[in-house]
Amino acid sequence: MSDQSKLIADTRATLSRIASEFSPAVFASSLAAEDMVLTDMILKSGLDIGIFSLETGRLHKETLAMLDKVKQHYGYEIAVYKPQAEAVDAYVAQNGLNAFYDSVEMRKECCRIRKVEPLGRALLGKKAWITGQRRAQAATRTSLMVEEDDPAHFMTKFNPLADWSEEDVWTYIRENGVPYNALHDQGYPSIGCEPCTRAIQPGEDVRAGRWWWENPESKECGLHVVDGKLIRIKSVAA
Ligand code: SF4
Repeated sequence: MSDQSKLIADTRATLSRIASEFSPAVFASSLAAEDMVLTDMILKSGLDIGIFSLETGRLHKETLAMLDKVKQHYGYEIAVYKPQAEAVDAYVAQNGLNAFYDSVEMRKECCRIRKVEPLGRALLGKKAWITGQRRAQAATRTSLMVEEDDPAHFMTKFNPLADWSEEDVWTYIRENGVPYNALHDQGYPSIGCEPCTRAIQPGEDVRAGRWWWENPESKECGLHVVDGKLIRIKSVAA
């Protein structure tokens, strides 16, 4: 068995175990390439794992188009969770639409409102959740495990692609005809909200286009635990 075949077999086995031992479990898809690999595996295997996406209100049109692409390709409708309108309105009224450029605290507060709070709603009542994170993606992900405890949400978190390289991801996508976000062909290896993501140059780190005005160590949205510690989300008012 080739390394790639073993990687795929191990990942399928992990997903099957999650479906049978951690039900109800859900997969949080950002609709990026890694997440499409997991979407393909879950849906083609008919696993009992729900798939949802956080629609922050600031996504690229190409990312939103992925919801329709998945529906057309797999006949599956990804559940969409949106932020609370009152919280978004209050943040914008008090700080401005793009206040996340002003400081890490302002950026994390925007992520808290648009991502962290809706994620909490999506995970209510679940035993485990799944992400498409990979260890090689960022300085904040070097100790990422396939299975880990998530103390922030009181459940188990799985990162089935933790051991995958970027090349592994694209080999799987090409060989299996998996639909993917058109931005990946325009210099965006990592995709988030439109105002917080830019294309990168050849040779740049794959996460260099995310919150590019910040230090690499602060570049997470508060959805994840980093190096065993919960990333603090500071309230602007605190
Ligand atoms: S990525 Fe940017 S726009 Fe999206 S929630 Fe975070 S700060 Fe707000």
